[in-house]
Amino acid sequence: MAIEVEKAFMGGLGAERVLLDPGSREKLSKDFYWYSPVLEKKLHDKLADSIILPQSEEEVVKVLEIAYAHQVPVTVRGAGTGNYGQAVPLEGGIVLDLSKLDRIVEWGERWARVQCGVRLGILEREARERDMELRIYPSTYMKATVGGYVCGGSGGIGSITWGDLWDGNVLEATVYTMEEQPRKMTICGQELHAYIHNYGTTGILTELMIPLAPKTEWTQSIVFFEDFMKSMEFCSTLSHDDSIRKRLVSPHEWPIPSFFRPLKKVIRQEQAAVLLETEEGTLSQVTELARTYGER
Ligand SMILES: Cc1cc2nc3c(=O)[nH]c(=O)nc-3n(C[C@H](O)[C@H](O)[C@H](O)COP(=O)(O)OP(=O)(O)OC[C@H]3O[C@@H](n4cnc5c(N)ncnc54)[C@H](O)[C@@H]3O)c2cc1C
Repeated sequence: MAIEVEKAFMGGLGAERVLLDPGSREKLSKDFYWYSPVLEKKLHDKLADSIILPQSEEEVVKVLEIAYAHQVPVTVRGAGTGNYGQAVPLEGGIVLDLSKLDRIVEWGERWARVQCGVRLGILEREARERDMELRIYPSTYMKATVGGYVCGGSGGIGSITWGDLWDGNVLEATVYTMEEQPRKMTICGQELHAYIHNYGTTGILTELMIPLAPKTEWTQSIVFFEDFMKSMEFCSTLSHDDSIRKRLVSPHEWPIPSFFRPLKKVIRQEQAAVLLETEEGTLSQVTELARTYGER
């Protein structure tokens, strides 16, 4: 990137929020793309020319204006936990790291308005203090940002009850376009589908309104089956049984459970394992149902 472009970004935001050192560029140009042996080969040498760290919506607009004027490619980043290279800059340019836009703006009855860089784990903790909780979240929720999840994720824990991101789990988004004068748009309803899971290619999301569920106390359990098909039948019945509230019904055929290292002591050899999160007080009902499908 030309020196005059670097200077333009530094002039706009201050030198300390334009990272040019090789360590930061390497670290913040990467996500979990290396899970894929195909992407590992293709993306390992991709690098941004600089990392830009705005702290407000106004600064995001400033960065977009400068990037547009100098025709610099922009790759948006939340926490970089995406696992197919969505946050890796393919053509250099800047990584626009939005993790400093991390303010919870407003609480409502069963919703929260947040800046895009708020971590889902923090939102869950704060929501629970207000007798609410996230409807759905990815397994990376302690690190992942709300904006990154909406733009790069799909579903996760809670989806068994609430569906995926497209199923009413985003209420509104503030979106900026990539133009000479970035336009601010407020998007809701069906129009959100153009921004969900689109990797920031249709716009940069700075603020989101997320629906919340009433707080529930959950219990985690594991059920084992000799026969994987029986475990699937159990999961299907449990998933359709509205008398048991649940956040997770996750069946795994052997040998997948053998890879769950933190659970090594409890996993049973050669058996299918169903990981569950159901409402506190439902374990006896779950056990009874599992027995009818041959649980061991
Ligand atoms: C072990 C593991 C488990 C995972 N489990 C799940 C899961 O259960 N469910 C699931 O859906 N995903 C899962 N993921 C994928 C990923 O962690 C999540 O989708 C996560 O929510 C991404 O958030 P992030 O802040 O890290 O986003 P990033 O990885 O930083 O970004 C994701 C994409 O969104 C774009 N982006 C980020 N912020 C914005 C913004 N404000 N405006 C516009 N574009 C933006 C980025 O350019 C990128 O294309 C998993 C990944 C790993 C490694």
